[in-house]
Amino acid sequence: MFTGRCLCGAARYHSTGPAMFSVVCHCRDCQRASGSGGVPVLGVPKASFTSSGPIRQARTTGGSGQPAVRNFCVECGSLLFGTPESAPDLVTIYAGSLEDCRDFQPTEALFVGQRPPWARLAAALVEHP
Ligand SMILES: [Zn+2]
Ligand SMILES: [Zn+2]
Repeated sequence: MFTGRCLCGAARYHSTGPAMFSVVCHCRDCQRASGSGGVPVLGVPKASFTSSGPIRQARTTGGSGQPAVRNFCVECGSLLFGTPESAPDLVTIYAGSLEDCRDFQPTEALFVGQRPPWARLAAALVEHP
């Protein structure tokens, strides 16, 4: 079970899981969208996921050429989860919004070729360029 919320608490979500993958994405899009060196992402089945509150979607074209959809709280702007149109059965929870961030145990780092040196994580992850 994964539950989370935005900074102001107006937008919430929960998922019964399971976690299908746990990664940190260092692509430039994730950096720009989050203002950080990478985004920790937890994949769960869409059928297990519900959300509530004032959530808006931002749609951009991702590196794959597919639309990337990021869902954020209208009130406070917190990024909460992604709903990739290229994988409609999947929701990608941004792990910093989890009620208990320790539920997120990343195993892989993606797009490390775009990762700045200061965003290297202490955890030993399998790295993909
Ligand atoms: Zn909020
Ligand atoms: Zn990314």
